[in-house]
Amino acid sequence: MVPELSVVVPMYDEAEVLPLLVQRLRPVLDALGATYEVVAVDDGSKDATPVLLQRYRHEWPQLRVLRLRANAGHQAAISAGLANAVGAFVATLDADLQDPPEVLAQMLQVARRDQVDVVYGVRSDRSADSAFKRGSARAFYRLLRAVSGTTAHVDAGDFRLMSRATVEAVNALPEHHRVLRFVVPALGFPSATVTYRREVRAAGRSKYPLARMVRLSVDSITGFSIAPLRLATWFGIGGGLAAIGMLVYALVAQLRSETVPGWTSTVVAVASVGAIQLLCVGILGEYVGRMYTMMQGRPSYFVAYDSMRDHGTQGAQAPPPEAAQPPAEALPPGAATGVAGPSRAG
Ligand code: UDP
Ligand code: MG
Repeated sequence: MVPELSVVVPMYDEAEVLPLLVQRLRPVLDALGATYEVVAVDDGSKDATPVLLQRYRHEWPQLRVLRLRANAGHQAAISAGLANAVGAFVATLDADLQDPPEVLAQMLQVARRDQVDVVYGVRSDRSADSAFKRGSARAFYRLLRAVSGTTAHVDAGDFRLMSRATVEAVNALPEHHRVLRFVVPALGFPSATVTYRREVRAAGRSKYPLARMVRLSVDSITGFSIAPLRLATWFGIGGGLAAIGMLVYALVAQLRSETVPGWTSTVVAVASVGAIQLLCVGILGEYVGRMYTMMQGRPSYFVAYDSMRDHGTQGAQAPPPEAAQPPAEALPPGAATGVAGPSRAG
């Protein structure tokens, strides 16, 4: 039987917070009055997360464990969950309890009442996030909005509920490095929002160091706008005009015999032109890199193990599945075990 709600929870080294998550999420879902599954996507954790998940699965039949072979990253882990979740509605939720599970009930209610396909969780209060995180996120959204015209809500993250139709649309996208918080609004399904208070991480530490935040930002921009490529063109035009001006000036100076040693101006010109060229080549490289990975067609994650499938391939560190498995008839048609990815080989 297809559950009414799937809750996809990406987790990477979340052993510390997992007990708290189970303790808080389960009562909420049990009280929903709807059938559900929780798809815990273990994103190649190296701590006790997979062991704990297997343990919880014994006492919580609705918990389904999907283990990725290697750490694929937050967005890819969510994509893996979306590709494998079977519910009529699918919600995504961080494991660290920053997104309060209680809001899920409200999201489901809004989706049904307003007949919308997507319900975004919008943070009404982000005081739990560091000032740096808030400031940089806000500046970044503003920039992305300007260059790409995204309709994504400034304070919406990856806490959202989607209908089956939306999830199918996302799954059908061949795009790699997809940043779902911008991809989903771009699909244009009818949507509503629910506000919530962003809480502090319940335990453990953030898996988003600065380098990953920068990566997410670059993926968001290059995934949604070619404005940076045009920036190179504008630099080129501006540089060309400046060069013509310099040429005229130099010729006039030469004719008037006013030439000076000019060491400073030479160095400045060479340095600035070099810097601009490097910047533009770098921007170009980002897009070429995207095309390169797209053309390779390599899935952005590999599923090692799915507790819903008896005969699935086993992850090296995943404990053997138990005899008592949830019924396999809930399998979606064509859902592949072993290798799954958003890419359609073509
Ligand atoms: N996460 C993941 N794979 C990663 C990094 C993070 O699945 O490579 C998960 C993580 O376990 C958490 C969610 O993504 O459930 C958000 O990560 P985190 O809370 O560390 O990010 P922050 O809230 O600090 O931005
Ligand atoms: Mg977090």
